[in-house]
Amino acid sequence: MDQPDYLPISMLNQLEYCPRRFWYMFVLGEMEVNAPVLEGVLRHQRVHRSGQETEEGTTRRRRVYVHSERLRLAGFIDVLEEEAGLLRPVEYKRGKQGRWFNDQVQLCAQALCLEECTGQRVEEGAIFYFGSRRRVAVRFTPELRAQTEASVARAFALLEQGQIPPPAEKRGKCRQCSIEPICLPREVSHLVLSPQSVSPRSAGF
Ligand code: SF4
Repeated sequence: MDQPDYLPISMLNQLEYCPRRFWYMFVLGEMEVNAPVLEGVLRHQRVHRSGQETEEGTTRRRRVYVHSERLRLAGFIDVLEEEAGLLRPVEYKRGKQGRWFNDQVQLCAQALCLEECTGQRVEEGAIFYFGSRRRVAVRFTPELRAQTEASVARAFALLEQGQIPPPAEKRGKCRQCSIEPICLPREVSHLVLSPQSVSPRSAGF
């Protein structure tokens, strides 16, 4: 399939959560708007309006566009804080911090793009979870940077491969996934385990 010039940063979050979800959302353009998704959209409305304010020495710019030619990534930072010359991307999420690392990878990708755009090192960012009202600091360690770059490479490799990935093995993810009614992970896995009843191609592989 045709490779995109740039990958949206937010799609790395989907990929880290589940490659099949990434495929549905980025390649097939599927988006199931259930209650939690709608809540997230509404909560993001303010931070998704561009603007700027300064308070107690910290300047906050909302909805800042960043991109990376090297990684072929582009997207928006919800809020970019600048304090004493240091830049700090802040991402806003509905719910609470999850057990997986997808939010951190998304934030790190924003930082890598920001570094390329500004030529300035970005050491730390933060994720604010509306559900718990907690702000979680994220250090951009060498390990997180490597994981993020590996995620970008994996996304382009999947697109190059041109085949929808199989359902996630951890079914706990599926219970929280808005794509589940479209993906039908249990049904697809069952059909693939019973190849006499259906071919893998017709099961979505
Ligand atoms: S329902 Fe499960 S397998 Fe399907 S996209 Fe979501 S997380 Fe992945």
